[in-house]
Amino acid sequence: MVPIARTVMKLNFCSLSSGSSGNCYYVGNEFHGILIDAGISATSIRRFLKHIDISMQTIMGVLITHNHTDHIKGLEVLTRKNSIPAFTTKKVWESVLGQQMRISSDCIREIPLMEKFNLAGFDIEAFPVCHDAPETVGYHICYGDEKITIATDLGHICHTAAPYIRAATLLVIESNYDEEMLITGQYPYYLKARIKSDHGHLGNHQASAFLADNIGDNLKHICLAHLSKNNNTPELVLRTLQRTLSERGINLNGYPQISILNRNSPTGMIRLI
Ligand SMILES: [Zn+2]
Ligand SMILES: [Zn+2]
Repeated sequence: MVPIARTVMKLNFCSLSSGSSGNCYYVGNEFHGILIDAGISATSIRRFLKHIDISMQTIMGVLITHNHTDHIKGLEVLTRKNSIPAFTTKKVWESVLGQQMRISSDCIREIPLMEKFNLAGFDIEAFPVCHDAPETVGYHICYGDEKITIATDLGHICHTAAPYIRAATLLVIESNYDEEMLITGQYPYYLKARIKSDHGHLGNHQASAFLADNIGDNLKHICLAHLSKNNNTPELVLRTLQRTLSERGINLNGYPQISILNRNSPTGMIRLI
């Protein structure tokens, strides 16, 4: 009897850059890739992709989360010079184009909120998160049995975002600031209040508490993302998470794996099979 060949579906993730200076993430299968945000220059995106052996020609689109510069800085050149289509909701497009970004109309693709669409074999859903932009979305990207959720700018985890975050097999979640560093730091009062607000960013304790309450058996990898340059360190992120887990008697024993994403350089390829 001839054995039936089974296709192994591979899904890869790599953070090219993560933090308040610029965000760009790569998700790819054995054929194609997509980017989430273009908050670094198109030259850096090309260079970082080359670093992980990915050619720009395999990138089928870029998904945009919101209109802050650290998420769209390279978008104009990426779409103009490389003709890569960009996808986001109507409201996010209005806010991006309202900033005088010159995006060729051929590259503008509007997607619905909380409704699946397919791009290059990936099933993708944009979901709303609470942040201080006219609209901000996270993305839930499915391929085979794997589900990647990316939620990088959110003041708190609202009831619409939580199910997408819980469903992930690989989760990219913000851990932006250490509460103590922010409060005692040099930022003016209004900026501290903005960051801490329900529409600002997620702190280390907030992210850790949510993870401690919600880590399920399906979750294979947690990537802690969008660290502040001035109000956080990778050591504090990890220490806060470990302390929160141990206070609740949770011992991960290496599963799910945990990565702290680099602010200005790629964080090695994570392979899900
Ligand atoms: Zn951001
Ligand atoms: Zn933002």
